[in-house]
Amino acid sequence: TTTATRIDGKAIAADIRARVGRQVHTLVSDHGVTPGLAVVLVGEDSASQVYVRNKRKQTLEAGMQSFEHNLDIDTPQAELLELIDRLNRDPAVNGILVQLPLPEQISDAAVIAAIDPDKDVDGFHEVNTGRLWSGGNPPVPCTPLGCSLLLKHTLDGDLAGRHAVIVGRSNIVGKPLANLLLRENCTVTIAHSKTRDLPAVCRQADILVAAVGRPKFVRGDWIKPGAAVIDVGINRVDDGSEGKRKLVGDVAFDEAAAVAGAITPVPGGVGPMTIACLLHNTVHATCAQKGLTVPS
Ligand code: NDP
Repeated sequence: TTTATRIDGKAIAADIRARVGRQVHTLVSDHGVTPGLAVVLVGEDSASQVYVRNKRKQTLEAGMQSFEHNLDIDTPQAELLELIDRLNRDPAVNGILVQLPLPEQISDAAVIAAIDPDKDVDGFHEVNTGRLWSGGNPPVPCTPLGCSLLLKHTLDGDLAGRHAVIVGRSNIVGKPLANLLLRENCTVTIAHSKTRDLPAVCRQADILVAAVGRPKFVRGDWIKPGAAVIDVGINRVDDGSEGKRKLVGDVAFDEAAAVAGAITPVPGGVGPMTIACLLHNTVHATCAQKGLTVPS
């Protein structure tokens, strides 16, 4: 029996995109500014192609300009860095996103470091990491931003004092999310592969976030009754029928939903929030670059 509320990431993301659309409309009509997002894809990874296509579609739907750069899989690093340099200097480009992972001849770190921190709408540049941990207001990585917005929505903004346990410590999800939840005055624990007695640590969580990359890793009996559970995982697994693949999260959903107070499904939970947050970051970056306050 499912007792938990399903957190509807699709609907919450649609609300964010609608707000972004209104903000873009105001920027265009009152200031003659159309935010522009450049997305760079190197190679033909099929999952990345799907993400890039969705980013373009949603960018255009929000009324922004979309600049797409598709480079060959064997593009040398120097050529990609030249493109980034051009985008850094292009006033029509307010946000730059390079789709990761990159092919092996290119260093992810070198590429991230080359992006103008003020146009770094992925929030991965070290300058932005530093700003985030020093209490500033830089672009924040989109997936953890989406997780924190889902939690604020689900808990009606009442996060203060709750114990948040985040399983996973990547730079893309776990670490920045720890910062965002700390800002909301949660007590934050970051767990990882060396954590002792992980189930017992998870059982303490009022808020449990799984960002592990292992299908159905978090079990129902790891969950404190009534907890809010955010499942970041996107795992493609065999669904039993010939060659068919399906998406499952890092949480054993049915078990967890019987215990939790609220839980995100996969798909339809965290996933849709990521692009919505990218668009949000692009509007904020545009306003910061133009010295404008973000329209309400
Ligand atoms: P990483 O592989 O970078 O990090 C995984 C983390 O999980 C690491 O910190 C690792 O610990 C920890 N971990 C691995 N095994 C265990 C274990 N047995 N016990 C406890 N901790 C463990 O993954 P990401 O953070 O990039 O992504 C996590 C998941 O989220 C993936 O499924 C990914 O597909 C998904 N994702 C979804 C996004 C979305 O838009 N919804 C966006 C980004 C990611 P250690 O550091 O010790 O190795």
